[in-house]
Amino acid sequence: MQIHRLPALSDNYIFLLHDPDRRIAAVVDPAEAAPVLQCLQQLQAELITIFNTHHHGDHVGGNTRLLQKFPNATVYGGENDRGRIPGPQVFLQEGDHVNFADRTAQILFVPGHTKAHIAYYFPPTHLNEPGELFCGDTLFAGGCGRLFEGTPTQMVNSLSKIRTLPDHTRIWCAHEYTLKNLQFALTVDQTNPDLQTRYETVRAMRQRSESTIPSLLQEEKRTNPFLRWDQPVLQAKVKSQDPIQTFARLRGMKDQF
Ligand code: ZN
Ligand code: FE
Repeated sequence: MQIHRLPALSDNYIFLLHDPDRRIAAVVDPAEAAPVLQCLQQLQAELITIFNTHHHGDHVGGNTRLLQKFPNATVYGGENDRGRIPGPQVFLQEGDHVNFADRTAQILFVPGHTKAHIAYYFPPTHLNEPGELFCGDTLFAGGCGRLFEGTPTQMVNSLSKIRTLPDHTRIWCAHEYTLKNLQFALTVDQTNPDLQTRYETVRAMRQRSESTIPSLLQEEKRTNPFLRWDQPVLQAKVKSQDPIQTFARLRGMKDQF
């Protein structure tokens, strides 16, 4: 399975999964159809699957047009998104499995950004290979999604599920927000040497207009404040010893940043 990262709208990424042997493709969160159609054309591949993480327009905006071109494609979404995602879907919940080519994704229910958000986790098929996590707007590189429909408790539970995946899992999140996220992270975790190093790396990459996605879960655990609610440094910063409250206060500060 090859993964193509397609920039879309102002700061979204669409991920196209390609099986060159079978000439088939799947797409994760098609914000718009045009970049997907162009990539499929180049690859001479048929779209058979649309994986949606949640109902926001910048994640499902391309569904209808893609289904016009590929009416047999299957659309997947979270069961709580019933009625909110364009196209006839197969609804998924925690613990479900879906196949693409020779890979199988496990479904994680990760509410918080929305009440229905799901993530698709492809475990590694060989030793020393990374797993792949498509997590939409739940975990970002250096940050996490805003809480539009969920509570801090839900989001901490969701991020906890992600945090237990193997360190070498690649994080394919849906937005290029990394630099801004790390600028905020430095205001709450300024003595973290891994964070300082990451910030410099990301700043240089963005100056060269390079994408910072995917990141590695291991790096997120070390530098992303929204996976570090149990770190004393961050708890002291927000004057709390409660993990949920620590997360909630950090999220509130980021909303104002
Ligand atoms: Zn969203
Ligand atoms: Fe989004």
